[in-house]
Amino acid sequence: MVTVFRAPRSYTGEDLAEISCHGGTVAADAVLNLLISAGCRTAEPGEFTRRAVLAGKMTLSQAEAVADMAEARSETAFRGALARYRGELSDLVAGITEDLKELQAEIEYTLGFDERNRADGAVPKGRIGRIAARLSGIVDSAAGSRLLVEGANVAIIGRPNAGKSSLFNRLVEGERAITSPVAGTTRDRIDATVVLAGVPVRFVDTAGLTRRAGTHLSRLAIAQTNKAVEQADIIIALFDGSRPAGPSDEAVIAAAGGRPVICTLNKTDLPRRFDRSFARKCPARLMPVSCRTGAGIARLRSRLARILSAGPGPKLTVNRRQLETLSSCRDAMVRAGSAPTLETATLETRSAIDMLSQVDAPAAGTDILDRVFARFCVGK
Ligand code: GDP
Repeated sequence: MVTVFRAPRSYTGEDLAEISCHGGTVAADAVLNLLISAGCRTAEPGEFTRRAVLAGKMTLSQAEAVADMAEARSETAFRGALARYRGELSDLVAGITEDLKELQAEIEYTLGFDERNRADGAVPKGRIGRIAARLSGIVDSAAGSRLLVEGANVAIIGRPNAGKSSLFNRLVEGERAITSPVAGTTRDRIDATVVLAGVPVRFVDTAGLTRRAGTHLSRLAIAQTNKAVEQADIIIALFDGSRPAGPSDEAVIAAAGGRPVICTLNKTDLPRRFDRSFARKCPARLMPVSCRTGAGIARLRSRLARILSAGPGPKLTVNRRQLETLSSCRDAMVRAGSAPTLETATLETRSAIDMLSQVDAPAAGTDILDRVFARFCVGK
């Protein structure tokens, strides 16, 4: 059965036909081969949506929302992408662009009108500041949404045998990590993603960051562990409550860096031998857990959920490309606000307008389109 859509009322804005045939690959292949022999070619990934953008049927951020919806790993991410598909981001960007252009016109008018202003004319700091503040608000809210869209990385770190794999298993409620009573047998980091507080959370079970040199841990595993810790949005520092604290526990605290860290004391089912004085050095209060009995795990989960959903909650969800563009635009306007002359202010404003145009304008360059549509699958 062939459904015909006449231009411009089709997905791409062109004349379009959709062929429905029996499922299974043989019938579909036969139809496809027939079409190819008649001069058709198969579509590139995302080609239909790309054509729709070029024909002005949808903006670039709406097109990206199509891919973001397809890839969404949580309901929050899906709803955010749907809002963008409905034009939320495009409308916002159009509004700010309008304000920037007005500002730009005014500055250029002043520059042309009054020669003296070239040197020391008053930069409209208040007005620029208001636009910069608006952009900052959007960037902050959007940055918070990055976790919702891309998920949060949580790394579990601790000395060998502290119980990292056991905790990892408890947290992901699966059996994907192998625990072993022999210290140092978790060679590779193992990860699993679960949805917590509407956020896809990737737990990484590190292979023993503090393991002494000379043990059988491969260089690759160390590099992977360091990378996992570096990329972590939240760190779970795990200590063994059944043993006295040692230098490797100090190293664990140091490795957490300035990131949000949850300090946990494991093996509370055993007699406590962990020093109270060490507990005071921890950047956060020690949460007692027992991976053996499951005690404290629920509280640890809710602590994580609270960190993940901290803040007012994003008004807008964006992807990484859009966030980068919005932040550079904000930076340009912050620089414009402290520009020494009107001329520098106008340069920054112009570059802010250019950057903002990359969020949506299809004419912004084929490299942007290539990058965006490389994520799409064939048929979208
Ligand atoms: P990792 O090297 O940090 O990944 O530690 P593992 O998760 O492999 O655990 C090391 C050993 O401690 C294993 O024998 C676990 O069964 C044991 N273990 C882990 N958590 C607990 C706990 O809460 N209580 C007790 N008694 N043993 C535990």
